[in-house]
Amino acid sequence: MSRVWNFSAGPAVLPEAVLRQAADEMLDWHGSGMGVMEMSHRGKEFTAIAAQAEADLRELLAVPANYRILFMQGGAIAENAIIPMNLMGDRRVADYVVTGSWSQKSQKEARKYAEVNIAASSEASGFASVPAMAEWKLSADPAYVFTCTNETIGGVEYPFEPDLAQIGRGEVPVVADMSSHILSRAIDVSKYGLIFGGAQKNIGPAGLTIVIVREDLLGRAMPHCPTAFDFKTVADNGSMYNTPPTYAIYIAGLVFQWLKRQGGVAAIEVQNVAKAKLLYDFLDASDFYENRVERACRSRMNVPFFLKDEALNEAFLAESKAAGLVQLKGHKSVGGMRASIYNAMPLAGVAALVDFMRDFAARRG
Ligand SMILES: *Cc1c(COP(=O)(O)O)cnc(C)c1O
Repeated sequence: MSRVWNFSAGPAVLPEAVLRQAADEMLDWHGSGMGVMEMSHRGKEFTAIAAQAEADLRELLAVPANYRILFMQGGAIAENAIIPMNLMGDRRVADYVVTGSWSQKSQKEARKYAEVNIAASSEASGFASVPAMAEWKLSADPAYVFTCTNETIGGVEYPFEPDLAQIGRGEVPVVADMSSHILSRAIDVSKYGLIFGGAQKNIGPAGLTIVIVREDLLGRAMPHCPTAFDFKTVADNGSMYNTPPTYAIYIAGLVFQWLKRQGGVAAIEVQNVAKAKLLYDFLDASDFYENRVERACRSRMNVPFFLKDEALNEAFLAESKAAGLVQLKGHKSVGGMRASIYNAMPLAGVAALVDFMRDFAARRG
């Protein structure tokens, strides 16, 4: 067996130790005589798995006691509808900060359920930056302010936490799509009303959506909100109103345990900074490659880059693949290349990429 260095944006690389443990436990989880996929979600085995996963996530992100952790389905894209359906309450307007493809998609979907005010947008600058909070034009009484704190496609990450208290609007809940950088860096959960993300970038398999929501925001769902997507129903039923994505929760739980063994979020953040620095420093020193995102807003997780001679793109992709470095093709809307270097990508993988890129440039430059 040989494993590649997998730079996929998602579904993405998982820690090898997690995959090995899951393989070992595939037919018989802890002497139960069953695999996790075969268990009732209400049985004592799976209930314990889910409770442990939730407790570990709460510990890793230091989630305060007045926040609920929900394990849902539908992915981040479904949340684009589920969130306004749950949070609008009797308000009319929701504010959106648009910093790339994902927040753009979110504000479009929200228009089915709310009047959307674009509080700030970096579209004019080609989504290469994050508008400073001082420039955000919030409406008078928005239900929430929506942000995407790491734009997976553009490779743009907030260099600050969107703490509205700093602009005198601390009463407005901040919603953050953290799909592609949750658990990659320390955050202060208390600054947010709701954090959400699909699991398949930095947590585990596709099919699981994590929602972390402040308790006072529960119980405001629109009458036509599907019951299975009403945050209060999900919370009141311990994420088991309907059958949850049990195997995805189990794998996510193994990833949380792995992350704790690495030293938790603070320790993985140190590694993530080192990985990103290695790659960006190389790109900046090169006259063969470039990254076009404003330096302060460059994502530590998703690194889009371009060959200055785009005629070499196909050769770059073919040769990198032959060298065991895969999924480097950029998103079709951006072009070029993209290396996603999530928590489970070791420094050695990024070093292998940089070595290949240096060699390719020397041969083709
Ligand atoms: C991948 C991604 C999504 C879409 O997730 P789905 O699981 O396909 O719904 C939304 N937002 C961000 C930031 C993402 O990275």
